[in-house]
Amino acid sequence: MNILITGGAGFIGSHLAHYHLAKGDAVHVVDDLSTGQITNIAPLFNNPNFQFVEANIVTWDGLKEAARWSNRIYHMAAIVGVKKVLEDPRAVMATNMAGTERVFRAVAEVNPMSQVIVASSSEVYGFNAKSAFVETDDIVLRSAGRLRWCYAITKLADEFLAYSFFKKSHIKVVIARLFNTVGPHQTGKYGMVFPNFIGQAVHGEAVTVFGDGTQTRSFCNVEDTVKALDLLALTPAANGEIVNVGNDHEISIGDLAKLIIQRSGGTSDIEYIAYEAAYGLDFEDITHRRPVIQKLQTLTGFKPQWSLNDTIDQLIALERTCTQSE
Ligand code: UDP
Repeated sequence: MNILITGGAGFIGSHLAHYHLAKGDAVHVVDDLSTGQITNIAPLFNNPNFQFVEANIVTWDGLKEAARWSNRIYHMAAIVGVKKVLEDPRAVMATNMAGTERVFRAVAEVNPMSQVIVASSSEVYGFNAKSAFVETDDIVLRSAGRLRWCYAITKLADEFLAYSFFKKSHIKVVIARLFNTVGPHQTGKYGMVFPNFIGQAVHGEAVTVFGDGTQTRSFCNVEDTVKALDLLALTPAANGEIVNVGNDHEISIGDLAKLIIQRSGGTSDIEYIAYEAAYGLDFEDITHRRPVIQKLQTLTGFKPQWSLNDTIDQLIALERTCTQSE
């Protein structure tokens, strides 16, 4: 199978590339390396089934040719991370929506038989006060004022773009709402909690909990995420569907900090930092976020394989190895 991955040098995209090459597929990655890292895919360069082009999805002149070649496209290219969103919301709005529209227009024009897996986000559930989210839940977004929500708006627009092309152009699409994916290749540079806590605990620095630490999240190992995305792509009934993808084990951020310190065997303190000091006034946090993964399970039979403890141990070991080799 021919697999095109936009944003394929990024965190999840690069795992998709490794996974599909291991399955014997041909993989074409496009990434502008704005947040993706060449080191994530460098080990693949010698593989004859792999090709990489450095280009921005909004302007890449090879898009139609690659779309024609593909049987499946994972559209992962987007600007992500709370820090990035607050730093440059204009770029987030422009790239995330224009990139998706361009991908769909190309597919509709040159290869309507291809399938597109779109990376949406649990952010689209927005400020909904519920703690566990089902795909049919209402979307609750702030009407004005806080830039944090612009990312959710772009992902919601991407979902509707995808759904429009499914309905009107009969393109096969699966819309995956990804919940807090974690694992190797994820960088803490753009605010993500897991790599930050792991790095801090391993290096004996204070672990920085924003707010009072009672907010909760559910973390899914990227290996599980990749498997779930492939299973969804292979399930005809998933076409045209919005599906939560994640692990439904929930933990508070305060408890996550304690657990990571404990499993690292370190003695880091926990430092509580007010949201305002961490992110400024344009930020407001989501208090609870857990996916209901019934739909994913019914469609594909998928069950997450990685426990939180195993993921923490994996990333602690990796952080130690990276530190030693520096
Ligand atoms: N967070 C934290 N310390 C950090 C980075 C993040 O306490 O160094 C918190 C953040 O405020 C949020 C949670 O961890 O409550 C998850 O943040 P992340 O940006 O990883 O994901 P998202 O907010 O998109 O779920």
